[in-house]
Amino acid sequence: MLEKQLPPPVFDPALLPQLACPACHSDLHLNASRLICAECRRAYPVIDGIPVLIVERAENLVDQSKGEDPAPRNP
Ligand SMILES: [Zn+2]
Repeated sequence: MLEKQLPPPVFDPALLPQLACPACHSDLHLNASRLICAECRRAYPVIDGIPVLIVERAENLVDQSKGEDPAPRNP
């Protein structure tokens, strides 16, 4: 008998409310196979359905809005 092939493990979005960004403790959003923190713009990988909430493993998202000066301006 052939065994039914299991689909690849997928992170259950229902767990999202229980998770928080380890860097800034903000809510995370599932985007493709990564968990995105919009607050500090980090992307945490999800490996085998397990979110890797480690700051050192996170990918820093490049701010796509060009033209903004990241340095604080003096009035
Ligand atoms: Zn964050």
